[in-house]
Amino acid sequence: MTIAILGGGLAGSLCALALAKKGLQVTLYEQAPVLLGAASLHNEGKLHLGYVYAADPFKQTYKTMIEGYARFFSVLASCTGLDQAVFIRSKPFYYAVLSDSQLSPDSIRQHFICVDEEMARAGLALSGFTDCSSKELAKHFNPENIQAAFKTSEFSVDPQHLASAVYASVMQDKNIRVLVQHEVIQAMAKGGDYMVISQSCSGQQTERYTHVVNCLWQNRMRFDRMVGLNEHRPYLLRYKATLRFYIPTIQKTPLKDLVSATYITGPFGDVVNYQNGYLYLSWYPFSKLHESTSDELGAFDNALLNLDKKAFIIQSIDALSQYQPALLALHGYQDRAVVAGGYIFAWGYTDIDDPNSELHQRHDIGLHQKERWLSLDTGKFTTAPSLAMQAADRVSMLLFEQADSAKGLVCSRN
Ligand SMILES: Cc1cc2nc3c(=O)[nH]c(=O)nc-3n(C[C@H](O)[C@H](O)[C@H](O)COP(=O)(O)OP(=O)(O)OC[C@H]3O[C@@H](n4cnc5c(N)ncnc54)[C@H](O)[C@@H]3O)c2cc1C
Repeated sequence: MTIAILGGGLAGSLCALALAKKGLQVTLYEQAPVLLGAASLHNEGKLHLGYVYAADPFKQTYKTMIEGYARFFSVLASCTGLDQAVFIRSKPFYYAVLSDSQLSPDSIRQHFICVDEEMARAGLALSGFTDCSSKELAKHFNPENIQAAFKTSEFSVDPQHLASAVYASVMQDKNIRVLVQHEVIQAMAKGGDYMVISQSCSGQQTERYTHVVNCLWQNRMRFDRMVGLNEHRPYLLRYKATLRFYIPTIQKTPLKDLVSATYITGPFGDVVNYQNGYLYLSWYPFSKLHESTSDELGAFDNALLNLDKKAFIIQSIDALSQYQPALLALHGYQDRAVVAGGYIFAWGYTDIDDPNSELHQRHDIGLHQKERWLSLDTGKFTTAPSLAMQAADRVSMLLFEQADSAKGLVCSRN
């Protein structure tokens, strides 16, 4: 039995670890020089409970997010041996309803009640949301631009800290053969197995596998098609820039009391205070650099390269400080900012400024399968660990069934 995991993001790395912990040997392909250097590194790290998905007409996404959250730390612990206490947590999120929100504060409050009920059903040890008094709202936000605000117990983990921990675990695991700087360029089904062709500095390499888990995120659909796993459904690939500041002396600055905030509902943004000197800012109209309904990624190549980073930093601070005036202090720390970015895959074909866009829902995620080729739509950072574990369990089940039928064959021959 030979198992390949394609893509060394959070999903691929955890799937590899979960299989390795079962005593199975796996090969993990990653095109970059290091694992976990793409979307799983350059994201906000929010562990969604689904508050932001207030516009999902099916009222399903918050349930999917809560399921993902409920397993997030236990999967990490089983794969890395690390307790959740070691992962750095942000200040809890406030949700601020902007004056041009697609939904009213009342309908958002109704949605939040449903989220809290689901959290209670799932037995999560998190307190629910509370309405902010006008005094509390004015303490953190500019009341002129905000209709209402809610305090939640949702938080982010620092994704860079988490990526380092998972990376270290993969590199230490003797059952995982890590092939970095190996770009998968082709895959094909052959005689019940799969040929994976990769390109590295030493040329092209073809290897045969009995089982493959495709965790290639932005490239996933392209490789699925090569083995005949076709999803005839529109999807949108977006490339989003991220802005991270490191201010080690933050406790001595006016930013020390900065709260984490999500602005709803529409193409707005977030602010995260990880409480370790790092801050994250995202204002969607500037941070979404490119989108496409096809997976020909050529047009994305220069999205980040061509970005005027200084202008991006200034515009993002200015946009968000209209709502959180304390952010104006960040102009004094522009040289402490790092701009990066990552891809986002989602079903649908219109952007979030469309109230009917499918991007307002993210529940139809998870595993797709054709024979022994599994393809994982991770959906979110929040859901990556639980889905990675699901993929690893499916591989084990396929191996078990195969071993069982081989045994049956031997018995019937005897
Ligand atoms: C800006 C931004 C903010 C986000 N914020 C949040 C958030 O707060 N909360 C949340 O839950 N989710 C968030 N997300 C979504 C989340 O980051 C992703 O859902 C998740 O990280 C995807 O994990 P992955 O392992 O599937 O993909 P990735 O981390 O992208 O891993 C895929 C890997 O495959 C590799 N690869 C691709 N093609 C090839 C190839 N041909 N050959 C070899 N290797 C290849 C890539 O280099 C990459 O390392 C955000 C995403 C972005 C971009």
